[in-house]
Amino acid sequence: MRKQRLTEVAETDKGYFSAKGFSGVALVVVGYPRTWEVSTFTDTDPETGEEIEVESEGEWVEDSGGDRVLVRMVGDDRDHAIDRSDLQPIKRADFCGGCGQIGCGCDPYDGDE
Ligand SMILES: [Zn+2]
Repeated sequence: MRKQRLTEVAETDKGYFSAKGFSGVALVVVGYPRTWEVSTFTDTDPETGEEIEVESEGEWVEDSGGDRVLVRMVGDDRDHAIDRSDLQPIKRADFCGGCGQIGCGCDPYDGDE
């Protein structure tokens, strides 16, 4: 299985979710879509001594407060970007820890985690 870096997700995004488009499968939030952000900062021109605006090279910034989140189905390793508003929190007891399906009874694990 492919190893992927997991982002530290916000406290409110921890736990399990269902969402439309992922019928009956539990999801976890694994991160946030990234955007390339170029920031500007003020520097002093070494020749004229004037203040000038300089653009940084830019960096990938994860937007944890945005409208989109990256989710992964329990037991899967692919990320999907979906609207945060589509997330419905569910309890650990609501889905199967074996296959990730909500309402399945084949759960080989029991109890809360
Ligand atoms: Zn199952």
